[in-house]
Amino acid sequence: MNFQTSHENELLLSTVRAFMEENFFPHEEMVDSTGEVPEELGREIEAKSREIGLYACNLPEEVGGGGLSLSAQHLIEREYGKTTHALHSWAARPTEILLACEGDQRERYLLPCVTGEKRELFALTEPEAGSDAMGMRSTGRRDGDDWILNGSKHFISGPCMPDFAIVFAATGEDDTPRGPRKRVTAFLVDVGLPGFDCREGTKSVSYRGYKTFQLSFEDVRLGPEQILGEEGRGFEVANQWLGMGRIWVGASCCGKAERILDMASEWAATRRQFGQPIGRFQATGFRLADGAMTLRAADLMVADAVARHERGTMSDADAAMVKVFCSEMLGRIADDAVQIHGGMGLMEELPIQRLWRDSRLERIWDGTSEIQRHIITRSILRLYGA
Ligand SMILES: Cc1cc2nc3c(=O)[nH]c(=O)nc-3n(C[C@H](O)[C@H](O)[C@H](O)COP(=O)(O)OP(=O)(O)OC[C@H]3O[C@@H](n4cnc5c(N)ncnc54)[C@H](O)[C@@H]3O)c2cc1C
Repeated sequence: MNFQTSHENELLLSTVRAFMEENFFPHEEMVDSTGEVPEELGREIEAKSREIGLYACNLPEEVGGGGLSLSAQHLIEREYGKTTHALHSWAARPTEILLACEGDQRERYLLPCVTGEKRELFALTEPEAGSDAMGMRSTGRRDGDDWILNGSKHFISGPCMPDFAIVFAATGEDDTPRGPRKRVTAFLVDVGLPGFDCREGTKSVSYRGYKTFQLSFEDVRLGPEQILGEEGRGFEVANQWLGMGRIWVGASCCGKAERILDMASEWAATRRQFGQPIGRFQATGFRLADGAMTLRAADLMVADAVARHERGTMSDADAAMVKVFCSEMLGRIADDAVQIHGGMGLMEELPIQRLWRDSRLERIWDGTSEIQRHIITRSILRLYGA
């Protein structure tokens, strides 16, 4: 889709495309088949990304980041969506929640992530608490001025072993009119601290080579300066800084869908059966038409959400709509593309099966489709007092 965009954004887009042509696309097959990004390659991507100003481009200039506008970030996220997280996550965009760092935390965590000296993980999900984040069992117990962290996290993802994790844990309970509610606190936890074990976890078939980590905490002692934001306000900190996360998932789904649709269209135009291109059979051609329509709608939803966020009017339901619509749009296009390719769609020789596998994750992480629908439903019923 051609967004009406500024000259600056056009230049940015051509830089990003050239960067991807050189550093991501040539390595996709190797990374998928070996399930690894060689450390040397990852570090090379990291260094080049810094050189051309893409590293930490999402963070403001005051902290040394690229200070890109949301519309510029939209273009990047959409473009990066065409390749695998295993590769583009090396060209890092550190999590914006680090902007909540205060005092010494800025030198210890935020600034080293901007320069690439440190890498972080965002650790919310637990084996027994996925969609139901409030069901978390990780706890922080007060001990004098310190906190003692216990519990575990899984599926915590990143390109490589991190230097620290932003860990969410329950630090007490509040009485509310709807019953007791956990107080959740975000802690900055350094890898290497006594009692903190961080190791590679199970491997996902989506984005092979993008690692998941398993974290466990056994009486990990943390000083009060390790709290990010305020005690008991972990979700508020996350919500304040991570509002665009689901929109960027949507943008990335659009990029991937475009790539897949291009491949399916070319195949439908060139593969012949019964003496004609298979795209001329309505059953095949209409899949392309439906894909093109839903992709356009998805792109417009992302652009609309970006505009809403810039105006300060984007709601949780807006973000949920983008996440669920774009990821499901991608799922249908990826599945149709396999169908259009017939048996070849499942063969390792072609990238279709990989893109189909990669697409599947988008309906699950950052809140499943079902959870997004709950958010949307709640926003509708609330208007009627239900
Ligand atoms: C590759 C990968 C990387 C990830 N990276 C991170 C990361 O960096 N940090 C992090 O914190 N997490 C991460 N996650 C975790 C991810 O966000 C969770 O997997 C996701 O939120 C779903 O949780 P779950 O897997 O426990 O599924 P569950 O919560 O067990 O859900 C299973 C099914 O039940 C459905 N379900 C659950 N509750 C309801 C309900 N109330 N109504 C209807 N249906 C419901 C779900 O929609 C889903 O279909 C990652 C996951 C993967 C696979």
